[in-house]
Amino acid sequence: MANENKLQAIIAHAKEYGFVFPSSEIYDGMGAVYDYGQWGAELKRNVRDYWWRWMTQMNEQNIVGIDAAIFMHPTTWKASGHVDNFSDPMIDNKDSKKRYRVDHLIEGFAETLPQEQSEALLAEMDKLIAADDFAGLKTLIENNKIKCAVSGTSNWTDVRQFNLMFSTEVGSVAEEANTIYLRPETAQGIFVNFLNVQKSGRMKIPFGIAQVGKAFRNEIVARGFIFRMREFEQMEMQFFVRPGTQKQWYEYWKEKRMEWHMTLGIPADRYRFHDHVKLAHYADAACDIEYNFPMGFKELEGIHSRTDFDLKNHQEYSKKKMQYFDADLDENGKAYGNYIPYVIETSIGLDRTILMLMSEAYEEQDLSTEEKQDSRVVMKFIPRLAPIKLAVLPLTKKDGLPEIANTLMQECKQHFKCFFEEKDTIGKRYRRMDAIGTPFCVTIDHQTKEDNTVTIRYRDSMEQERVPMSEVKNIVMKAINE
Ligand code: ATP
Repeated sequence: MANENKLQAIIAHAKEYGFVFPSSEIYDGMGAVYDYGQWGAELKRNVRDYWWRWMTQMNEQNIVGIDAAIFMHPTTWKASGHVDNFSDPMIDNKDSKKRYRVDHLIEGFAETLPQEQSEALLAEMDKLIAADDFAGLKTLIENNKIKCAVSGTSNWTDVRQFNLMFSTEVGSVAEEANTIYLRPETAQGIFVNFLNVQKSGRMKIPFGIAQVGKAFRNEIVARGFIFRMREFEQMEMQFFVRPGTQKQWYEYWKEKRMEWHMTLGIPADRYRFHDHVKLAHYADAACDIEYNFPMGFKELEGIHSRTDFDLKNHQEYSKKKMQYFDADLDENGKAYGNYIPYVIETSIGLDRTILMLMSEAYEEQDLSTEEKQDSRVVMKFIPRLAPIKLAVLPLTKKDGLPEIANTLMQECKQHFKCFFEEKDTIGKRYRRMDAIGTPFCVTIDHQTKEDNTVTIRYRDSMEQERVPMSEVKNIVMKAINE
């Protein structure tokens, strides 16, 4: 399937089967804001829980999780550099009034060029962005005669910086009001709590603090469905290390995070690392893990060596010491003593992970035989992440079959998400479960009454076999934990 068609097919499927809806759709929706429906919310929760457990429970490193507030003291964002630096170069088309992120405008144009020209153009753009050369970027756009998709003209304004933070006010009376920001990343909630966690948890370096939560960015070019949203969710972990060891921990986390991705059932060649050309203001090394989305390879997760930038700045702005006392001895037998730790960050978008999983899972299959035409859409989620693990389907609504099905439901729903359905033919019910990605369907029929066996049907192979009803729970549990 052509890539653009695949994205459109996924968007349509996501809406039809209750994964993702445009936000406030009855009012025609809101740009780059989406709501998760009944199955999307389950999928998202499964991914979030899995990431959380992998970080805070299954990890060989000492990592704890927190849940900080979205609102933070406004000085946080001065200290973090977001007030001054969290902006993208933008350009407006004077005829259509449409605003573009400069890198996206140039990248879009580069895609229309032969590979060699495209690479040369992007290399030139990277150089100019790294040098903050806005006049140079404008010249590059003009020299390449890049046009606005709406007006079709090349009548551009100058390139300007545009801050991506949303602001709002706290305080009941206007004069008392204080401008605050909706957090554009969850990381700062971790930094401001560094000492609270370290002291209350008696944490010894190296250790990590993980957090999952909403973040907000006033993205100008919002496209690619849930790839780029104005309200989204991040899963971040800050790992605090002794200064001088950050390079080795950076390599460690690059490798570890890729190991996590390999457990999602996605082939390795769908991922790649991309080292940053322009380092963010806080980083001494940074890379992205990119996934081959329907729109091509794009950032899914960032791994950043953030130095002591954040803690040092919070110490300066808050006048509170952010130091850690390290009693371990160095090679000369002296305690390392007091220092501000260095930080390695792993930061992954939950919504982008959902888009990745949906893109990877979505498959249209032609099942036609000589006798009849047939097809299905199947979502091949791994059982651990699938929204529903087991569908329990009585063959008919009578003869006591729903009652037997209900006893199986009662047993299994204590352990994993199940779904009960008695309407329509079994074939139709199977298809609906395929479309949601349910890995196992169990049919209760008249034979069940005689020998307590059921038919279990496997989503991917569509094979069916007869198993004792008492085995069903274990079969599903085993698959979930694989
Ligand atoms: P991009 O270059 O795509 O804008 P970024 O480099 O600004 O992303 P980070 O600040 O490193 O992103 O954020 C970490 C992660 O958060 C990203 O890898 C991505 O998965 C996710 N993320 C960032 N912005 C958005 C967004 N607007 N919508 C959805 N997810 C996002």
